[in-house]
Amino acid sequence: MAAARQLATRFPDDEVLLIEGQQVGFGPSGRNSGFVIDLPHDIGAPDYIGDIGTARLNLALNKAAQEILKRLISNHNIDCSLNFSGKYQAAIEDSGVSVLDSYRSGLDKLGEAYEVIEAKDIPAHLGTAFYRKALYTPGTMLLQPSALVKGLADSLPSNVTLYENTPITGFERGQEVELRHAKGSIKASNLLLTNNAFASHFGFLKRRLLPIFTYASITRPLTDDEQARIGGKDHWGIIPAHPFGTTLRRTPDNRILVRNSFSFNPRGQVNPGALAQSKRKHRLSFERRFPAIKDVEFEYTWGGAMCLSRNHTSYFGALDSNISAAVCCNGLGLTRGTITGTLLADWLAGDRNELIDFLIQSPVPAANPPEPFLSLGVNANLWNGERRAGLES
Ligand SMILES: Cc1cc2nc3c(=O)[nH]c(=O)nc-3n(C[C@H](O)[C@H](O)[C@H](O)COP(=O)(O)OP(=O)(O)OC[C@H]3O[C@@H](n4cnc5c(N)ncnc54)[C@H](O)[C@@H]3O)c2cc1C
Repeated sequence: MAAARQLATRFPDDEVLLIEGQQVGFGPSGRNSGFVIDLPHDIGAPDYIGDIGTARLNLALNKAAQEILKRLISNHNIDCSLNFSGKYQAAIEDSGVSVLDSYRSGLDKLGEAYEVIEAKDIPAHLGTAFYRKALYTPGTMLLQPSALVKGLADSLPSNVTLYENTPITGFERGQEVELRHAKGSIKASNLLLTNNAFASHFGFLKRRLLPIFTYASITRPLTDDEQARIGGKDHWGIIPAHPFGTTLRRTPDNRILVRNSFSFNPRGQVNPGALAQSKRKHRLSFERRFPAIKDVEFEYTWGGAMCLSRNHTSYFGALDSNISAAVCCNGLGLTRGTITGTLLADWLAGDRNELIDFLIQSPVPAANPPEPFLSLGVNANLWNGERRAGLES
């Protein structure tokens, strides 16, 4: 969506077709937890910040994405419950507490603000006494992602035509790219792939993009009495100290969202039973954190693909003379997808600047071994990660 909008703006005399296999809002960009995160978090570095130059550029990319979204939401009156409530990174296990301590030193290095919330003060913020420590950082925005992407789709420039429910089933390279779908084909002088893990279905970046699914459940709105029983602030977002832990939100309409559990689905489709299994894990995580309202039922449970790479990098730039891509958001699509889509169009329009150069020169997603070793390795990693997360999950 970001790439299509910016292409249309930079090439006002051209026609841009935005092709989506499903309905806008039904894919992961509409069904995520709604954290528009500003801060870099390099899970491979001891202080989670790593190289300061790289961290500063990632921070600049994320902040630029936030500015784009704020402007679009305001200009087009998109009612997506945007709020500037920041995020809490919360820990319960010793390993999680030490992650927070290390990340603090990284944030000091980066010069970014934070507040440490000790266990006794956590219930007044988050309505739960479950956590031992939290690190509050003020720059994250929270929103309702489905309302956001639907609002963005409704406000696309007039030279963008959106084709929903149009899965591309085959494709030919050439001077013009030909994309086949159930009712015919589309010819285009330029193709931008912004479909995250699914880019490998077009034959590019094979075995470099890992479609890792994650799952979430959301309760019905809490009653006044239930809200009073848990207390805390009206809305908040928690990300886990451990990467395999649980993300939680209290939404502006007073629901609790719980996200955890992962599965590797190379074909892009979840296995039967995965939703039911995830829902059981969500239930356990919810009841541990909110025993006072443990009987509140979930209204919805869903899953969606993130695109991860083994070395936590993305792909940005050319794949062929008339094909380019901005893919592999590594779980941070709201900011990363917005800014890389926008900058991809700028790059095609001839812009060169510090952020574009950084993206072009960044390492590409690492190659992985062939099947069956790939699935064995990824599944073993996911299993081990979830086990090590302990109570953080
Ligand atoms: C439960 C959950 C919670 C998450 N929480 C957050 C969060 O809080 N913050 C955050 O930043 N990120 C979060 N993420 C990750 C985020 O959702 C993704 O990074 C983001 O959706 C990536 O956006 P995208 O548009 O690049 O790719 P996607 O949203 O994956 O979109 C790819 C689109 O391409 C379409 N497509 C694929 N193949 C074809 C084809 N052949 N023809 C036509 N169309 C095709 C698909 O239908 C899909 O809609 C979460 C993800 C999940 C699943």
